[in-house]
Amino acid sequence: MYVKKLFLQNFRNYTSQSVELCSALNVFSGRNAAGKTNLLEAVYTLGIGKSPRTVKERELVRFDSDGAWAKAEIAKKYGNHTIEIYIDKKDKKRVAIDKLPLKKLGELMGVLGVVYFSPDELGLVKDAPSERRRFLDIALSQQSKAYFYTLGKYNKSVLARNKLLKEGGQSLAKTLDVWDEQVASLGASVILARRNFVKKLSLIASEVHERVSLGEKLVLDYECPVESEEVDKVKQELSQKLLQNRERDTILGFTSVGPHRDDIAITVNGLDVKKYGSQGQQRTVALSLKLSELEIFKQETGEYPVLLLDDVLSELDKARQEKLLREASKVQTILTCTHFDQTLPDFSYHFVVKEGITDNKIERIQ
Ligand code: ATP
Ligand code: MG
Repeated sequence: MYVKKLFLQNFRNYTSQSVELCSALNVFSGRNAAGKTNLLEAVYTLGIGKSPRTVKERELVRFDSDGAWAKAEIAKKYGNHTIEIYIDKKDKKRVAIDKLPLKKLGELMGVLGVVYFSPDELGLVKDAPSERRRFLDIALSQQSKAYFYTLGKYNKSVLARNKLLKEGGQSLAKTLDVWDEQVASLGASVILARRNFVKKLSLIASEVHERVSLGEKLVLDYECPVESEEVDKVKQELSQKLLQNRERDTILGFTSVGPHRDDIAITVNGLDVKKYGSQGQQRTVALSLKLSELEIFKQETGEYPVLLLDDVLSELDKARQEKLLREASKVQTILTCTHFDQTLPDFSYHFVVKEGITDNKIERIQ
């Protein structure tokens, strides 16, 4: 799939802008603060329904205006679609697909698949487990609406269980039984989907990483105290663990086992890359994971998602830049950088983002 046209109105520093994109590599260069990341943010927000940069969505609304609007025309294997999103200053958001307003954000999942990589994405490897869970959850939600809804229900059940644990009271054990059943049954589906995804990801990422890192061995493993492989058994095991930890959970006031606590173990040549990886290694691992996510998306849905690459070239030497650009032109890629002096691969477009006194403009130069 690819974005044919993008329209922005009062979105970040864009007053009114439309861009026609090609289905291969689209390079946007321009000075710092010109609006390059803002453009990627718009595409990501149209795909996921949320900004990759902020939870305060009113920040997307251009200063001195009432609401931000973004629209994408998308070409897919079985027809074209439009997605529109409007966000007002009170964080209120409206999303429409083919002009029909959505009742649930879940309906947006997978219409425009996106894989986003920015310098912040190093957190995927370096930061707390929540970053890696977020990666899994966004990737899986885009491939399956069922996952998105199950995860939402699971998170609500855990919150409800935590609330009960904090409140305590006489009939606590009985009510906890009911919530344990919910948490275990929904949690089992989440665990299995994630474990399955990590297995596929590990296979693909080890190949990708070997190529981009010139021979390093990358291995991923879904870290979860529940080891069974079959849904009923996972549920049973998780139920037992919830029960075993009940006393501790009551003291702590939160649920200490379940997929909301899981992680991905990432090793390079047998060493934990979180602890021992160099900055460059960690960055390459994060990039390998994202490039592999493209492949799994294709396997699961039959189409590649759109690849959004923010400011990745500056970190790479010329040879690696060229390799990445060639790889990136296999799918629709929207890439930003401050300087671009490479030869473009075939069927690619080069745009310049220029900041003006009151507005910025995008011009196609090649
Ligand atoms: P860099 O090369 O430094 O990464 P960039 O081209 O990616 O720069 P962006 O992050 O896209 O820059 O844009 C940043 C600019 O957008 C800033 O100057 C900021 O003031 C402006 N900006 C951010 N939010 C808004 C908003 N809501 N209204 C108007 N302008 C905004
Ligand atoms: Mg930027």
